[in-house]
Amino acid sequence: MTVVVVMLVLAATLIVTLVALLLAERDMKSVIGNQQFALLSSAAAQVDAQIAARKVLLATLADTIPLAAGNDPAAMQVFVDRNPVARKEFLNLHIFTRQGALLHTEGDHVEATPALNPRARAYLENALAGGKTVISPPYKSVLTGLPSIMILQPVRDAQGRTVMLLGGSIDLTNSVFLEQIAEQKPGETGFMFIMTTDGILLHHPDHKRLLEHINARPGYNRATEMALRGFEGWTEAVNKEGSEGIYAYKHLQSTNWIIGVRFPVNEAFAPMIQMRRHAMLAAAVFAAMAGVVAWLAIQTLFKPLGSLHRNISDIRSGVAGIGVLQRQRDDEIGELSAAFHELMAERQRYEQQIAASEKRLRTIADSLPAIVAYIDSDLRYRFTNEHFRRMMGLDPRSMLGKTIEEVMGKEFAAGVACFNEAALRGQRVHYEREGYHNGCLRQVMGDMVPDIAADGAVSGFYLMALDITERKTAELQQAASEKRLKLLTDNLPVLIAYLDDERKFQFLNATFQHWFGIDPQTLIGRHLAEGIGSDQYDVAEPHLDQAYRGQAATYELKARIGDELHTLETTFLPELGANGKVLGIYSLTHDTTRMKEIEERLTQLARIDSLTCIANRLMFEELLPLAIARARRNRKPLALAYLDIDYFKEINDTLGHGAGDQVLKEFADRLIASVRASDTVARLAGDEFVIVFEQVANVGEAARLAGKIVDAMHAPFTLHGAPHHVTTSIGLALHEGDDETPAALLARADSALYTAKRDGRDRYTVAD
Ligand code: GH3
Ligand code: MG
Repeated sequence: MTVVVVMLVLAATLIVTLVALLLAERDMKSVIGNQQFALLSSAAAQVDAQIAARKVLLATLADTIPLAAGNDPAAMQVFVDRNPVARKEFLNLHIFTRQGALLHTEGDHVEATPALNPRARAYLENALAGGKTVISPPYKSVLTGLPSIMILQPVRDAQGRTVMLLGGSIDLTNSVFLEQIAEQKPGETGFMFIMTTDGILLHHPDHKRLLEHINARPGYNRATEMALRGFEGWTEAVNKEGSEGIYAYKHLQSTNWIIGVRFPVNEAFAPMIQMRRHAMLAAAVFAAMAGVVAWLAIQTLFKPLGSLHRNISDIRSGVAGIGVLQRQRDDEIGELSAAFHELMAERQRYEQQIAASEKRLRTIADSLPAIVAYIDSDLRYRFTNEHFRRMMGLDPRSMLGKTIEEVMGKEFAAGVACFNEAALRGQRVHYEREGYHNGCLRQVMGDMVPDIAADGAVSGFYLMALDITERKTAELQQAASEKRLKLLTDNLPVLIAYLDDERKFQFLNATFQHWFGIDPQTLIGRHLAEGIGSDQYDVAEPHLDQAYRGQAATYELKARIGDELHTLETTFLPELGANGKVLGIYSLTHDTTRMKEIEERLTQLARIDSLTCIANRLMFEELLPLAIARARRNRKPLALAYLDIDYFKEINDTLGHGAGDQVLKEFADRLIASVRASDTVARLAGDEFVIVFEQVANVGEAARLAGKIVDAMHAPFTLHGAPHHVTTSIGLALHEGDDETPAALLARADSALYTAKRDGRDRYTVAD
């Protein structure tokens, strides 16, 4: 501020002073110019007077020339000698004849009378013809070699004719009256000069320039040009050397020559320049004084600001608390202090909040069973948690500021370099790697999350790493046990599969390959329908639905293995979750073909049905022809009832094969109980039964017996502890002792059974 005050005062003082001086200079210039012109006018008057005086002298002399002597040079000599006054006023006196020839000449430097050159002669002739006093232009004298001018006075005879010319020459370098003028020059370096209207110099302090044209030297001077154009008065101009001057010009009356004066501005204004210097010095002193005063004023005014400044720096360096701020002051400083106090108090609050949040973060991070760190873009640890100590025996605090290489070693740093680079490129990184720690091979899983600023720059990354050695070992153990299990299942002659809750294969054993040539791996993730084909799937679907409802289901199917048709039995076992929901289904299929074959062969060999303990088809086929023969013999009709349980498949499907078997047994028992001991009851196959009623009286009796059997089934069957309704349909055919074969009789009964089924079941129908 002091500097600004000094500069302003200096500038103001200088501007005022310089403007005042400029105005004074302008006025002074016009005073000096007018002075110069007045001086010049007086000098011009003097020159005119001097020339006029010489003209008068010459005229007087001309009147006394002895014309009678004619052109006698000796007489002329005598005449001149008689007039010493005139001799003194001129450098030389000349007398020319009417013809322009030099008759006499007189002067200090003359030895002989020289001949005139043609130009001079022509000029003289002109002057003679004019008959008036003339002043010659300046010339270089042939006699003396000096720059001169000459006043020519005609000499007339009694008749008034010009007979001679009297000439008085003036040496321009050494003329008394020109010297007088030269002395009137202004100042030390100013000078006066005279030139013709053509610009030929005939008076100049530098004699070498006499007779030269004023513009003989190269360059331009505006004042000179103005003078040559006829200007009179004063002006300011720069001469050919570049120096400024005040010029004044005036024309002489006697000769029309131009008399001029030059006064260099330097000299004319020397006092002014001196004044300017003094003014500047005064301004500088004044400004310096103003600076001192300003400095003192600022010091006084800003004292409270200074103490505020000190207080703030004390607070910043921790020397003082924010209480030192003078908030009570009733001025701007008080307001400023209050604002600072508020800001700093707020900052302190935030700092406390941050410290608390950092503490919480540290507690969380230190309690985690994993390594947590923040690593900056120079790969230096900036945050480390306590787990470094537990997992690696490193002091987390001492790691801060050090690079990964410094803490973990070169080999480790090289091993994780690619992960670090990816994280610093802004990618999230997940890795698992092995490493030796305390001589033991450990498995470590790490996650790196880049710290990306709003502008996209990555300033570091967060690292979380876990020792997963135990978990890995457990995984490996499980894998080994799974491998063993697979080996076992793959070598069992059972098709084993696991279906997830979307009926997609999750596991299949190698039996698929052995039986159907399908690589089990190709089916993983595929739907069951894709694996077994839509036809087989339609058969399996109701059983599968049952299993997904949580109940095991078993069913039989036929499938081609190699070139043969095999009977396969499949059981669906639901896997239940903790909440009782079905998570998936185990499917176990074994080949029952061999078993079935053996079973059938045994059945054929035996005559008693192993399940119901009544006669089987074999026995029935042996007994029926015998019974027909008896009927023929006794002429008593025989009735054959063909029975089939209604909707037996449903019982199997809903309640299981075991329940089905139970129904078959109960059914057989009720049949036995409903007939006479002489009647034959047999199970032909599945749920098909036959009864041979012997010695029936007529169709009516046979029908009554059949109706009795239909009714016998109406009592509920107890299955799994619950009552179930089971009905039967019966086809009845009577053999009246004719030629009808047993097969034809059975076919008729079968056909009647078909009718009973078609007519709604739970009934009997008598064949035609
Ligand atoms: P319909 O009323 O038309 O007779 O219908 P249904 O469901 O009874 O059909 P069908 O008589 O054709 O079904 C006979 C079923 O009996 C087929 C077979 O699975 C089943 N089956 C055959 N032998 C046995 C067996 O020894 N025990 C059990 N539980 N079921 C058998
Ligand atoms: Mg049936």
